[in-house]
Amino acid sequence: MDTKLFIKGKAIAGKGKDEPVLDPATGKVLANVPEASPEQIDAAVKAADAAFGGWAATPPKDRAAALLKLADRIEGAAEELATLESRNCGKPYGAVLADEIPAVADVFRFFAGAARTLHGAVAGEYLAGFTSMIRRDPVGVVASIAPWNYPLLMAAWKVAPALAAGNTVVLKPSEQTPLSSLRLAVLAADLFPPGVFNILCGRGASVGAPLVAHPQVAMISLTGDVATGEKVLTAAAKGTRRTHLELGGKAPVIVFDDADVDSVVSGVRTFGFYNAGQDCTAACRLYVGSRIYDKLVADLSHAVASIKVGTQHEDGVEMGPLITAKHRTRVAGFVSRAEDRKHMEVTTGGHARVGSGFFYEPTVIAGARQSDEIVRKEVFGPVVTITRFKDVEQAVDWANDSDYGLASSVWTKDAGRAMQVAAKLRYGCTWVNTHFMLVSEMPHGGLKRSGYGKDLSTYALEDYTCVRHVMVKW
Ligand code: NAD
Repeated sequence: MDTKLFIKGKAIAGKGKDEPVLDPATGKVLANVPEASPEQIDAAVKAADAAFGGWAATPPKDRAAALLKLADRIEGAAEELATLESRNCGKPYGAVLADEIPAVADVFRFFAGAARTLHGAVAGEYLAGFTSMIRRDPVGVVASIAPWNYPLLMAAWKVAPALAAGNTVVLKPSEQTPLSSLRLAVLAADLFPPGVFNILCGRGASVGAPLVAHPQVAMISLTGDVATGEKVLTAAAKGTRRTHLELGGKAPVIVFDDADVDSVVSGVRTFGFYNAGQDCTAACRLYVGSRIYDKLVADLSHAVASIKVGTQHEDGVEMGPLITAKHRTRVAGFVSRAEDRKHMEVTTGGHARVGSGFFYEPTVIAGARQSDEIVRKEVFGPVVTITRFKDVEQAVDWANDSDYGLASSVWTKDAGRAMQVAAKLRYGCTWVNTHFMLVSEMPHGGLKRSGYGKDLSTYALEDYTCVRHVMVKW
């Protein structure tokens, strides 16, 4: 298992404190990964800074070639990467192999192609005797800070567009889930000039904070909690650095009376509980029309009760544990406080599983009200609430009445109503009659406190470049 940092093209043991990395399905230690020391953080940023000029000047087709080779190697190592990811996160192995690893490779391929299409908007004469042109150029050293829920995929979303655009990167994976990113560094080792792609491990306070505060970091990209986003913004203010923030979510799912109940049930069973609901776009906050409310509560509760919870390689496993014991306690706290409010009913689940690992039952809570904590706060676990609405206006008002603005969905057979509601929702994405589907060509990112950075698509390339004007006197 790789436990070394990656600085200036070399794997180097961290000189900081050992960080235990656990298997959430057993609670046992998988590896001890030493953190980066302050000197190693400085060395990684300086290496990235020194490599920037050369990589920025590398023709897009050559940058693309390196990214394409990395995509091939990721596919070649798919089983090994899926094993690491599923052990470190507790995810079902089959799902990681079928869903996440192909998506990681696709992200590198997409940005390899996209790197060759970057263009300025206009060129021409806007003043007599002068030609103006617009360029899009890389920003510099990007500090990329990733979360634990999809460690390799989130690393890919950050690293691929940044490198494609000609930046150099220092990636810090979550201290809980560094293993797949460390493997990625080994796969990439000979593909990029030393210093172009570096990895530092460690906790937010001891490694993340000094990394983002480093004066040679030109841009900070974070996927994480809103509170972490605010800390990063404060750090970025010093030096007026650029930020790219992808923060939490609390996705509303509006289900009209004419929706196909079976599709809604199957969709929420999948998209509310995928990755044990530890997903910023999870379909977790249902608003349901009065006529179908009772049927939907009954059918969804029945379907969710059938989700097979288990360890990574169990036959037919659909859902694994939560990431840590602490996170499970947090999720259980939300559910028990909801149960204390007598108007809500836990219709399935609602308990931690006895035994080893950090398992929590897939849970449905009916009768939730807009003002309830469990409707307003991000639980980030396998818990879906259902709230009855009376008309379209109320559904849209409640859906929008949230600090978050990442993802949403609308379920109806009336295409006109779907369009009307989609136009009013204040979310970075609205799906109609589905949820959670992502493609590399389309942007993913939020509004409001969910942040403003766009991952995926050519919009991510724009985020990782700056617009420049060059004017030539005739
Ligand atoms: P987190 O904010 O605790 O940690 C994210 C990363 O930030 C980790 O690598 C952590 O070490 C680092 N960090 C913490 N404090 C830091 C600091 N002061 N300076 C620099 N780095 C610091 O989040 P998490 O618990 O790992 O992930 C869960 C959160 O991520 C949820 O809120 C979820 O919604 C969000 N998320 C958002 C998206 C999205 O696309 N919008 C995707 C996945 C996860």
